[in-house]
Amino acid sequence: MPEKNLISDKEKEEIRDWLLQLSVNQNQEPVLPTRPCDCGYQIYDASLKCFKCKQTWEPCIITGMPLLKNQIINCQSCGKGALKDAWNTYLQAYPTCPWCNKHAK
Ligand SMILES: [Zn+2]
Ligand SMILES: [Zn+2]
Repeated sequence: MPEKNLISDKEKEEIRDWLLQLSVNQNQEPVLPTRPCDCGYQIYDASLKCFKCKQTWEPCIITGMPLLKNQIINCQSCGKGALKDAWNTYLQAYPTCPWCNKHAK
């Protein structure tokens, strides 16, 4: 056993305050998921518009999330776009497009 605690009461107090401060900050500023826009600006993951370059995205007809170029799949009937992952998951449960209600495959 060490003869005395290696951390002084003063230091313990400082560490406790620091941890408290951290948790307070986390409560005040929840970390939102972000993605980089083509212009390099970090925007909220679900945002349909970049506030810097004013680019906009169509919402996915299933999730409402922005349709990013490399993740789009289009309905063969109505041509509306959806995110590939959402589309594939959706079609496992329902046989028709949620937009035009026609068979999508
Ligand atoms: Zn942008
Ligand atoms: Zn459709």
